[in-house]
Amino acid sequence: MDSTVNPPIYFNKPCTAGNELTYIADAIANLKISGDGQFTRKCHQFFEEHFGFQKVLLTTSCTDALEMTALLANIQPGDEVIAPSYTFVSTVNAFILRGARIVFADSYADNPNIDATAIEALITPQTKAILPVHYAGVACDMDAIMALANKYNLLVIEDAAQAIDSYYKGKPLGSIGQLAAFSFHETKNIIAGEGGMLVINDAQYNERAEIIREKGTDRSKFFRGEVDKYGWVDMGSSFLPSDMIAAFLYAQLEALESIQQKRKAIWGYYNQALQPLTQLGIQLPHIPDYATNNAHMYYLVCNNANQRIRLIKALKEKNIHAVFHYQSLHQSKFYAPLHKGRPLPNADRFTDCLLRLPFYNSLTTDELNRVCDTILDFFKGHSA
Ligand SMILES: *Cc1c(COP(=O)(O)O)cnc(C)c1O
Repeated sequence: MDSTVNPPIYFNKPCTAGNELTYIADAIANLKISGDGQFTRKCHQFFEEHFGFQKVLLTTSCTDALEMTALLANIQPGDEVIAPSYTFVSTVNAFILRGARIVFADSYADNPNIDATAIEALITPQTKAILPVHYAGVACDMDAIMALANKYNLLVIEDAAQAIDSYYKGKPLGSIGQLAAFSFHETKNIIAGEGGMLVINDAQYNERAEIIREKGTDRSKFFRGEVDKYGWVDMGSSFLPSDMIAAFLYAQLEALESIQQKRKAIWGYYNQALQPLTQLGIQLPHIPDYATNNAHMYYLVCNNANQRIRLIKALKEKNIHAVFHYQSLHQSKFYAPLHKGRPLPNADRFTDCLLRLPFYNSLTTDELNRVCDTILDFFKGHSA
C-alpha cells in the first residue's frame, strides 16, 4: 500500500480546541491539580447553566459515573436492571459489581436504541432500574420509558455517554432520568482523554453522591465550611478527576458550538453522499421525530456480516479505518450462560452488520470524498 497516494484516514483523531495547554498551565500555576479545583468548578457551572442540569459532578470516566449510579440506587444482590444488549460493557458492569442480574432487551429494527415496547414484559418484582442508552447520541423513547418507570416505581439511569448536546422533545439528554452518566473519552464529541460526569436530576441524591465520590467522606461539605471537620460517613471510592483533566475539558466546553457545527457538517456530508445505498437495502442512521442528532458518529448497516467484512477490507486497501461496534452482551462469553437464550434478533443484526465510518472534527472534504467514493465503488461492484 502506497501511503503517499493514500495517506491514512483514521477512525478517530482526538482534536484539541486550542486552549487546552494554556488552561492546564493555569491549573498548575494555581497550585491546585488534584480534584475539585477551579476548572472543575468552571465545568460544573457550565453544565448546570448551559443544559440546566440540577447538579453535576465530574468523574474519572463514564464507567465510574455509572458505578456511582449503582451505589446511589442501592443495588443489592438479586436485584434486576433492564438494559439494551447492544451497548458498551460499562452500562451494565457497574450493576454486576453490586450483584445485580441484567435483563437484556432488544433494539428497534431501524435504530440500535432499546425498544421501549419490549421493556414492560421484562419487569418483575426484582426490577430496580431501567438503563436507556442513547446510541449515537440519538434519544431513546423517554416518555414511554419514564411512564413505565412511574407505573412500576423504577429508577431510570440514562447512559448518555455519547449524548452531549442532544435532545428529546426539547429536553437535554441526561436531564430526564433520576441519574445520568456522560463520557469525555477521546472518542466522544467533547473530550478530556479519559473523563466523565454524573448528572443528578433528583436532589435527594446530591449529598450522598458527593460522599461516594470522595472515598465515603463528607470532605466536600468540609470545604464549603458546612462542617468543621470531615470523616468517614458511608461507603465510597475516588471518582473525582484531577483539575488538569477539568482544565482540558473546559477548553473543549468553551468550543462546544464550533465543535458541534463541524461534526454536524461531516455527518450531513456522509448522509447525503451515501443516500443511494438505501436502494440496495443498506440502512443509514434513523433519527426519530422526538430526537435530535448531535453528530456523535456516522454508521451504515450492511446487508449481512460477510458484506461488512468485505467492505472493511475494501476500505483498508485504501488506507481507511472503519470499525464495527458492540458485540451483543447477551451473546458475550461472560453473560450468555446467564441470559438463557432469549433471542434478541435486532441486537444481533447490529452486532453483525453495523459499520462505523471515520469521524473526527478535522475530517476534511477530501477525506470524506475518499471514504464515500470507496464505499460507493464497493457497492457498484458487488451489491449482495
Ligand atoms: C464510551 C461509552 C461508555 C464508557 O465511557 P468511559 O468514559 O470510557 O468510561 C459507556 N457507555 C457508552 C454507551 C459509551 O459509548
